Amino acid sequence: MQRLCVFCGSSPGNDSTFIETADRTGRLIAEQGMELVYGGGGRGLMGAVADGALGANGKVIGIIPRDLFKREGLHHGLTRLEAVDTMHQRKAMMAELSDGFLALPGGIGTMEELFEIWTWTQIGVHGKPCGMLNVDGYYDGLLSFLDGMVDRGFLAQSHRDVVLVDDDPASLIERVVAHRPQIHGRWMDSTKT
Ligand code: AMP
Repeated sequence: MQRLCVFCGSSPGNDSTFIETADRTGRLIAEQGMELVYGGGGRGLMGAVADGALGANGKVIGIIPRDLFKREGLHHGLTRLEAVDTMHQRKAMMAELSDGFLALPGGIGTMEELFEIWTWTQIGVHGKPCGMLNVDGYYDGLLSFLDGMVDRGFLAQSHRDVVLVDDDPASLIERVVAHRPQIHGRWMDSTKT
């Protein structure tokens, strides 16, 4: 895997564990010889993951819509910065450039990015692996909700299993790098007809 994309909060959260884990994740990505792709911001967990990778001599590609330069505090030390016009272009470019995706803790922007990339797997737009880093139980509530979707017949277990979940960044990265999602079911069948 050449490039790993990280979705995470533009905020730091209210516990230093979040920032420390984002920094560690960035470092691990660089240490494994992969490039980091992310949203280009300099603040919060986004800034920390980029700083972690850059601090380990890694390459970091930031993709950011022009009108967010100020609001999200553009990171000025990136290896490559792609300025785009819209959020949709940002997400499309992140998806195209990357070979896999990780979601760290974040807010609704992070959720939106993770769920879009996940649904694209479901309908067969791409077959790239995704992981969710469940730092300090941050995603426990969401994971219960997803299990409820499966129990109530709105989500196939095979689609639920596409996103790998772990509380340790090193283990999650290792699993995501090795994972090839296998998708079966009505979404995939319907795309073949
Ligand atoms: P948040 O998790 O809310 O702190 O946001 C994390 C990142 O997601 C930020 O870079 C936001 O600009 C980005 N974001 C928020 N909404 C969207 C969207 N609709 N499409 C793409 N990125 C978004």
